[in-house]
Amino acid sequence: METETSRVGHVFGARIICLAAVALAFLNSSARTGANTEGAQAQGASSLTPRKLIALTFDDGPRPYVLVGRKSEEGGPAPGLLDLLDREKVKATFFVLGFRLADAANDYCRKIDVGINCREAVEEEHRRGHEIENHTYGHGPFSRMKERYGEEWTLNDIDRASRIIQSVTGERPRYVRPPDWDIWPELRERIEARGYSVMMKSIGKTKEPPAREDVDTQDYIFTNLPESKLPIETLRKYVLERLEQRERKGVYTHILVFHELPLSTTALGTLIPELKQHGYQFLLLRDYMKVVAPAPK
Ligand SMILES: [Zn+2]
Repeated sequence: METETSRVGHVFGARIICLAAVALAFLNSSARTGANTEGAQAQGASSLTPRKLIALTFDDGPRPYVLVGRKSEEGGPAPGLLDLLDREKVKATFFVLGFRLADAANDYCRKIDVGINCREAVEEEHRRGHEIENHTYGHGPFSRMKERYGEEWTLNDIDRASRIIQSVTGERPRYVRPPDWDIWPELRERIEARGYSVMMKSIGKTKEPPAREDVDTQDYIFTNLPESKLPIETLRKYVLERLEQRERKGVYTHILVFHELPLSTTALGTLIPELKQHGYQFLLLRDYMKVVAPAPK
């Protein structure tokens, strides 16, 4: 029995040495090959290296004039978000509103006409390899909707958005971001029981693990700043400062929440290259989650 135990101990010890060797080899190889090994790192030893990752997400779309770009107010060309992401080889995640994908929204979506409707804009996002997720059908804040129509209504609103998104992409969304992060534990549980993960911001008593929480860039506030207050620069600085604060706490993985806004597109033209210089890699939310918060089931 003792012999057996010591043999087990020996084998176990050998395994630890073996694992340590693999870890060292991995660290060396990832240091040598850097960003080129992103796929392999995401699959394999995510716990071994502090990777600097960003899941770039955009709410409230689709807004074709932001995605495709158009003439700016001064008459010059304004960049399209999709072309910017292509140029930077960045894949992003779009939390869209279901009602925009219905035929009834065509006129609304083409108010600023760039030649495609909202549904076509989502088709284009999907075609270019971006992820489409659920920001509800109508963007009604859950607590107000519950008061008015009952909690069941909010669940139906989420499912309704999923159905119309799936009719465009062929895939059922996996993540739900509640409008204005208006959510409570019981409703979260009910949404998650339907097979979704709920995106949360750490507010008040709600504390999410740092890698899993939404980092609000507040672009919707900065976009209303008067021109004299330089909204683009304000947004750029705010994002960099938020990330530095998180890094000081040892957090190097972030879910950044922007909106489909011209301001955000312009700011990201500078921010994406800057963040890459800081060593960040960008990835789809679903791939990001595989690395930072593997599903328990
Ligand atoms: Zn929203």
